Amino acid sequence: MLESLKKMFSGNEGDMPVNTGSKPDISREKSKELYEKAKTYFPGGVNSPVRAFKSVYGTPLFIQKGDGCFVWDADGNQFIDFCGSWGPLILGHNPTKVREKVIETMQNGMSFGAPTALENELAELIIKNNKHVEKIRFTSSGTEAVMSAIRLARGYTKRDKILKFEGCYHGHSDSLLVKAGSGLVTFGETSSLGVPKSFAEETIVIPLNDTDALTQAFAQFKDQLAAVIIEGIPANNGLLIQDPAYIEFLQKICKDNGTLLIFDEVITGFRLGFEGAAGYYNAKPDIVTYGKILGGGLPVGMYGASAEIMGHISPDGGVYQAGTLSGNPVAMAAGIAQLTELLKSGFYKELNAKATEFAEGIQRFATARSYKFKVFHVGSIFWFAFTDKDKIQCAEDIDPASMEKFKIMHRELLNRGIYLGPSGYEVGFVSATHTKIELEKAKRAILEALDIVFRNK
Ligand SMILES: *Cc1c(COP(=O)(O)O)cnc(C)c1O
Repeated sequence: MLESLKKMFSGNEGDMPVNTGSKPDISREKSKELYEKAKTYFPGGVNSPVRAFKSVYGTPLFIQKGDGCFVWDADGNQFIDFCGSWGPLILGHNPTKVREKVIETMQNGMSFGAPTALENELAELIIKNNKHVEKIRFTSSGTEAVMSAIRLARGYTKRDKILKFEGCYHGHSDSLLVKAGSGLVTFGETSSLGVPKSFAEETIVIPLNDTDALTQAFAQFKDQLAAVIIEGIPANNGLLIQDPAYIEFLQKICKDNGTLLIFDEVITGFRLGFEGAAGYYNAKPDIVTYGKILGGGLPVGMYGASAEIMGHISPDGGVYQAGTLSGNPVAMAAGIAQLTELLKSGFYKELNAKATEFAEGIQRFATARSYKFKVFHVGSIFWFAFTDKDKIQCAEDIDPASMEKFKIMHRELLNRGIYLGPSGYEVGFVSATHTKIELEKAKRAILEALDIVFRNK
């Protein structure tokens, strides 16, 4: 099997005949049953909206088990997983080292609400290997980390307004559930019911990759802007890779105006490398936030900055922030075990090389067939875009109509045993446990799906 696959993929992928036609839908009987029940308990049957498969075909799959790069649903279907719990699972599902450390820690109890040595241990792993933070505070989610970072920036600068970018996601706190209005530089409009208009007016929203908009925003609001917040590499609404020159410009304009730059690295932190996007760009954000990978699959977030800025957090300073389960020992243990693996020499090099080869192989095929399809990728993050643009760097450049094509692709891939996040705006992740064999299998399925999507082009 491997040899024949190798042969197929060693040459010019563009020549490969792969069109086998649509496959019959997999059985989702058990998932359907569970989903019906779930709908009686939870709004939309889920505890986080994107899980509800609203943008793709069929009922959501209820997952029973994960191991390495595989997941199994309640009907026993097996998938190669590229969602990875939306990013945290860089070592794949249920890695032995993480599981064992968690079980060992749990023998001593699961929460104390008092300091433990494990918090020091995880903090030391991070601070010693990441020049962007001198002091940190653990939270229990990415949302909390970002919300707290914003409060810190406001408390530190004694200013109220923040600036965010259209197409960046920063969790679901009130200040950040805002989108652009019409115009280049706008007060945010709430993107959720329940967010007071007056809150949204404290958030300015501008497009990514637009130096004019930034300049204009600073001209208009300069001594009111506490912080600019950006995803290190925006990866929650497509993968909108920014040019280094833009990041440099952003950094400079913040510095010149006494505005703090927050890199929200909840998705890119420990993903692009141990120092995340800040390391990737060699940038110097004033505050960074992490989550996802940090907790090894358990709920952990954190924010960090220089000791001077972090000195404003209570009990040292006047910015209040707390958490009953913050620094939870079991979650700390999972983080320690996972980050220890990431620090091993060559970890990122190998992972990123594997992911690059995967992405480029798919791209070669699509290009050879002149499909309007691009695989944007950085590190082990990839995004499938149905476009003929060479770059997509702001939200407005994503064509909503292209999502219909993703929908077809998603179904074809599920039917071929490949699990992607259920929305064309979501990125995929390659983990350390995706071996060449699975990546070749997945690639083959993706090429077949592309032929089907573009059958009637
Ligand atoms: C996932 C994510 C968040 C929110 O984290 P939660 O743990 O879901 O609250 C915030 N910012 C970015 C960049 C994210 O990717």
